[in-house]
Amino acid sequence: MKRLAERGNKISASKTLALAAKAKRMKSEGKDVISLTVGEPDFPTPQNIKDAAFKAINENFTHYTAASGIDELKQAVVDKYKNEFGVEYTKDNIVISNGAKQSLSNAILAICEEGDEVLIPTPSWVSYPELVKLADATPVTFFVGDDKEFKIDAQLLRKQITEKTKMLLLCSPSNPCGTVYSKEELREIANVIKESGIYVIFDEIYEKLVYDGFIHHSMTEFEDIRDQVISINGVSKAYAMTGWRIGYSVASKEISSIAKKIQSHQTSGPNSIAQKAALQALTGDDSEVEKMRLKFDERRKAGYERICKIAKISVVKPQGAFYFYVDFSAYFGKKFGEKKITNCDELANYFLEDLLVASVPGSAFGSEAHIRFSYACSEDDFLKAMDRVEEGLAKLV
Ligand code: PMP
Ligand code: GLU
Repeated sequence: MKRLAERGNKISASKTLALAAKAKRMKSEGKDVISLTVGEPDFPTPQNIKDAAFKAINENFTHYTAASGIDELKQAVVDKYKNEFGVEYTKDNIVISNGAKQSLSNAILAICEEGDEVLIPTPSWVSYPELVKLADATPVTFFVGDDKEFKIDAQLLRKQITEKTKMLLLCSPSNPCGTVYSKEELREIANVIKESGIYVIFDEIYEKLVYDGFIHHSMTEFEDIRDQVISINGVSKAYAMTGWRIGYSVASKEISSIAKKIQSHQTSGPNSIAQKAALQALTGDDSEVEKMRLKFDERRKAGYERICKIAKISVVKPQGAFYFYVDFSAYFGKKFGEKKITNCDELANYFLEDLLVASVPGSAFGSEAHIRFSYACSEDDFLKAMDRVEEGLAKLV
């Protein structure tokens, strides 16, 4: 038999999804596991959105749509960017995809090829380097510590750019750190994007989840780099619609038309019913979004207070998204019976196997000292999980 493509060896499976599946499996075996793994709102999709989907089915809106999505939904995205960021786009700048993940993949495939390097400041989301490798390009990760609140600045970025750099991948609010870039910070970075001529993918899927009066800003707001920016967004997080699989990209017409071509062969248009539901999400009553945000904020405050009581950890208070990214490195080198804990993977494994708390080790996000806890779960569950973690850490010698 001939050998399979090298591509499969270059990438690893998504740790977030794998660990979430493992926690589910353990639960189904009757184990009292608390899962703080995957980042998805635990709220139901709002009723008006579900009703729009029922309506679409009853009206037989159940066939192929245009490969890049339905016009009304593209227009809703155009209007949203105009109303929320004051920027002018047209429908030709928009591609609706099967989740923000596909939007990212399309954009990377459209821009990058073998020999290109993509800068990824870490900690960063698990799929970025793998999607870059799938496009035969090379991810270049560089760690930015919590002393800088995990954020890059112009100086740091300039240092990383070489002849081979094609693109920067940036996420705000950030998964996994929860940090948010201000408009001034983004402007500084935009200056470097302009002078270097590289592209920037700006992943703003958590835009609706910001706290403490923070205002989310988009890289698309800077007119002078408009054609170098690809905004990635979607309905998964803001509207509790992870399973509906609708994301979108906002980019130059050239990039959008390539993304559309790619998608037309790989998956065709996204699910017709889910597109109608997403249209309702973007244009209908969105009061549920604010209610969910307030609930996340309550959990964030309670969770942060609780985590800070755990000895020898360090954590940056998240300003957005729904994750705590906690440095547990003070516990590395300790033992539980015969089990030696030398890194974040082993610690996360101890949390899961012995404490029945499922989390995601920082290795999934490019940093070895941390563990990510999602607080998209009930406050009671989160606090109970932290009690288990605290007790478990006290048993390490
Ligand atoms: N970007 C980030 C930063 C994410 O956390 C996620 C989570 N799923 C995605 C993109 C992908 O979103 P979707 O579920 O819409 O594909
Ligand atoms: N983005 C979510 C997370 O980081 C969902 C999982 C995934 O798509 O990898 O947990």
